[in-house]
Amino acid sequence: MVTTKYKCKNCQSENIVLNGKNRSGSQTYKCNDCGSCRVLFSVKKTANINLDTLSKTYEERNSLRSTGRIFEISHITVLNLLKKPNR
Ligand SMILES: [Zn+2]
Repeated sequence: MVTTKYKCKNCQSENIVLNGKNRSGSQTYKCNDCGSCRVLFSVKKTANINLDTLSKTYEERNSLRSTGRIFEISHITVLNLLKKPNR
């Protein structure tokens, strides 16, 4: 049997326990040493989005909401990604 030890992101302690799921359904962990309650393996939805493709889609006169539907992110996230200064 293989067990993996997870560490607290705050204090690097291995004394952590499962603490239910948050509103979006991600597993949260609670550290028994420092008391912090966090998601250890967060999934960033915008990590796989090519920003050039996103801006080209928007420049083809698609609306923010339709661009968001194409990339399956919210229109606010599309706006924030387009406003990002160094792309
Ligand atoms: Zn901790």
